[in-house]
Amino acid sequence: MTATGPSRDDELRRHRRELRERYRVEREKRLRPEGNQQYLEPSGRYAHLMDDPWTERVDREPVTEDVTVAVVGAGFAGLVTGARLVDAGVTDLRILDGGGDVGGAWYWNRYPGAMCDTAAMVYLPLLEETGYVPSKKYVYAPEIQGHARRIAEHWDLYRHALFSTQVTDLRWDAAAHRWIVRTDRGDTIRARYVTMGTGPLHRPKLPGIPGIQEFGGTAFHTSRWDYAATGGDPSGGPFTGLRDRRVGIIGTGATAVQVIPTIAPDCGELFVFQRTPSSIDVRGNHELDPVELDLRPGWQREWLMNFATLQTGGFTDEDLVKDGWTDIAQRIRDRVVASVGAGEEFTPATIARAFADSDDEKMDEIRARVDAVVTDPATAEALKPWYRQLCKRPCFHDEYLQAFNRPNVHLVDTDGRGVSRIDATGAWVGDTHVELDCLVFASGFEVGTDYSRRSGFETTGRDGVTLSEYWADGMRSLHGIHSRGFPNLFVVGLAQGSNLISNVTHNLVEAATTIASVIAHGEELAAAEGADSVEVEVAEDAEASWVGAIDGNDAGLLGTADCTPGYYNNEGGPVGLRERRNVGGYPGGPIAYFTYIDRWRNDGEFRGLEFRTA
Ligand code: NDP
Repeated sequence: MTATGPSRDDELRRHRRELRERYRVEREKRLRPEGNQQYLEPSGRYAHLMDDPWTERVDREPVTEDVTVAVVGAGFAGLVTGARLVDAGVTDLRILDGGGDVGGAWYWNRYPGAMCDTAAMVYLPLLEETGYVPSKKYVYAPEIQGHARRIAEHWDLYRHALFSTQVTDLRWDAAAHRWIVRTDRGDTIRARYVTMGTGPLHRPKLPGIPGIQEFGGTAFHTSRWDYAATGGDPSGGPFTGLRDRRVGIIGTGATAVQVIPTIAPDCGELFVFQRTPSSIDVRGNHELDPVELDLRPGWQREWLMNFATLQTGGFTDEDLVKDGWTDIAQRIRDRVVASVGAGEEFTPATIARAFADSDDEKMDEIRARVDAVVTDPATAEALKPWYRQLCKRPCFHDEYLQAFNRPNVHLVDTDGRGVSRIDATGAWVGDTHVELDCLVFASGFEVGTDYSRRSGFETTGRDGVTLSEYWADGMRSLHGIHSRGFPNLFVVGLAQGSNLISNVTHNLVEAATTIASVIAHGEELAAAEGADSVEVEVAEDAEASWVGAIDGNDAGLLGTADCTPGYYNNEGGPVGLRERRNVGGYPGGPIAYFTYIDRWRNDGEFRGLEFRTA
């Protein structure tokens, strides 16, 4: 009798079982009953983190005025909305932002090494219109903020802007058919329409670690980097203020992954406090040559659609962007095609299995990369992520893992528990105290909290109903833009719309184009009827049926139930109707949404909206 070993399929099945079990164990360690509530808004010794370190606040007289559109937020959401409104002939704008310039997340986040790990050719909006070609495949924050300024200049948006001005209240005046926008400068702006581009990446949150207020050294959040203390500037080092210092960084998310290798060479000692390792895939950054790129009219749209198509399981002749996002998506797609080709029925289970198998393969590669790069085996082991790639924001870097081979960089792995305590001289993990001169919080931003906490103000619609109340059980909208009871208010975002998470700005440009067409139509109606105002509001049934479709769509939640906690999955808390509505997108996916919305805004019907002139 010949003894035969287990077949390759048996081994694969065993490997998958072991992975599932390891993922479960690692998730259990990290589940915290307090979920999102574990984080704190900066207060006490950290209250200054809500201030603007980049622009001095200059006193000015309050503004009282009437405008056609108040654009809240001057990040990419507000800028592309402004641009599309100008394109549509609506130029009586007021743009408001708490920062001292345009850029939003990129205005605030100037930490060392800050860059975007979505390829610049698709991430930077309106490149073709502004005639700009990014310098590299992935560009650094100063170039991104420079592009935000370029958009503002190209569409002459600066003249409409009030910077260093935080909106404090947004209220619908039903009698006047106007929104009343109030600010921390005492401004009162009466606007026929308001657009809200108040993305989540500007309000820092801090970890709720006992003793956090006691720390006696230098401490700051990555989005308010203290260059006066560290030396260097957003374009780089040397970070002379960190030499001979014991520096701690709490957090190992997408931000920390960029900060750590950038400051490591200049720190006396750098202690990285890790709760959950990020997945670090290859970046492969390189210069871009506009001549080689051979860009023809319509090129950016072609690149955007190519990227989005590959992201969503579609086919293209060529992969123009070729990155980690398109790689995993194509692996899933090809597995589905192979299964169906082998005679299997095409069902949600086929997709789920292709997704799981591709994910296992990808995460095995990512863990193998850690072993290949990190020389100390114990450190390498601790840096391996044990969860599905999309449980957390995937990271891409070619110097992060390498930084742990430096003798002055120490991984303080907390085995999923986090830092236990902070005191005047440092941080505790269990019984171990690490003395620190400087503590950097790379602890992220308000994402999972109520809309008013995230945006920093409340929005009150008809009959005194607030948006926080109306969305208490999750967002309710048509297209992710209009909500019943909030006439003439337009949200510029991705939820309940295209929801292409790998390239946020693509969603924003589409939303802006849609919003501009609705406002232009409203203005035309008012002009044609000689009316003083027009109310645009989503019809009750249109909103209900849109939300109903989102409620019934499981696609975006694939695999999240057994995820390690993070802000993609309500910090491991239950994913109920509220979460489903807040993170859900158009059931057909981004490409189907882009096609649908293009038709919707161009056929002149604006189905689902009620226009009332007065
Ligand atoms: P994240 O919210 O992603 O990360 C916060 C980090 O803090 C996590 O590692 C978290 O651990 C850790 N943490 C929280 N509490 C504790 C504690 N008590 N002890 C130890 N560690 C703790 O914030 P980021 O600023 O990194 O990223 C926010 C988002 O910004 C990204 O997800 C991404 O969308 C965006 N971003 C995008 C970039 C891009 O290139 N486009 C670059 C940088 C950021 P745990 O994982 O266990 O919760």
